[in-house]
Amino acid sequence: MSALQVDHVTVRFGDVTAVDDVSLDVTSGQVCAVLGPSGSGKSTLLRAVAGLEPLTCGRVAYDGHDLRGVPPHRRGFALMFQDGQLFPHLTVAENVAYALRVRRRPRAERVARVAELLDLVGLTGYDARLPAELSGGELQRVALARSLAASPRLLLLDEPLASLDRHLTERLADDLATILREAGTTALMVTHDAEEAFAVADRMAVLRGGRLVQAGGLDEVWRAPVDATTAGFLGYAT
Ligand code: ADP
Ligand code: MG
Repeated sequence: MSALQVDHVTVRFGDVTAVDDVSLDVTSGQVCAVLGPSGSGKSTLLRAVAGLEPLTCGRVAYDGHDLRGVPPHRRGFALMFQDGQLFPHLTVAENVAYALRVRRRPRAERVARVAELLDLVGLTGYDARLPAELSGGELQRVALARSLAASPRLLLLDEPLASLDRHLTERLADDLATILREAGTTALMVTHDAEEAFAVADRMAVLRGGRLVQAGGLDEVWRAPVDATTAGFLGYAT
């Protein structure tokens, strides 16, 4: 069953059409990656889904309910960016618990959930550390735990590993895939990194100049790139 439906969405900024008639579905419990070069409209698409960017045309729906007029904080979505943007003055535990605190969840529940999430991202025992005391990879793991804290019905990931060193991204991409699967997360991830998309996603869509040029399962996209540009982008030696 498809959880998120993006239907013929267009987002224009003046003369610039950042997202051009994009349609895609994300199935419940699956990770869909949108792969595209810089400037192809990835962040704008995510922001439109999140409700942070008004749609020029089209429709975004969740479980069949049109989200028009539903403000970002009422959509039940979580967003994670390239640089996880932790609160620098809060500890790891406080950062992870933040969304639960805002929702006034009881302390015992917060403590239990933080322990569960730190275990999930492999950072048990990091509770009292400050962000300044963490490596880049650890920061992104904490940011991920924080995004998952309120059990969002959809996780939106904007190039979650792009700020990290190449050797780290490979390992972290595999970990990210495992973590999302274990948590049963429904996610839409945008990235310019084909390896990251293949490591993490169940399905993939290729975006260029604001338009989706191809979408399908990983095998489908890999075996039959729609054109030479896409093939090059996927990592074919051309
Ligand atoms: P990506 O995330 O793939 O790099 P973006 O969604 O950030 O792409 O940008 C897509 C296009 O829309 C670019 O041409 C960018 O300059 C333009 N754009 C994005 N945000 C704005 C904005 N707020 N105002 C005007 N143009 C924008
Ligand atoms: Mg972007």
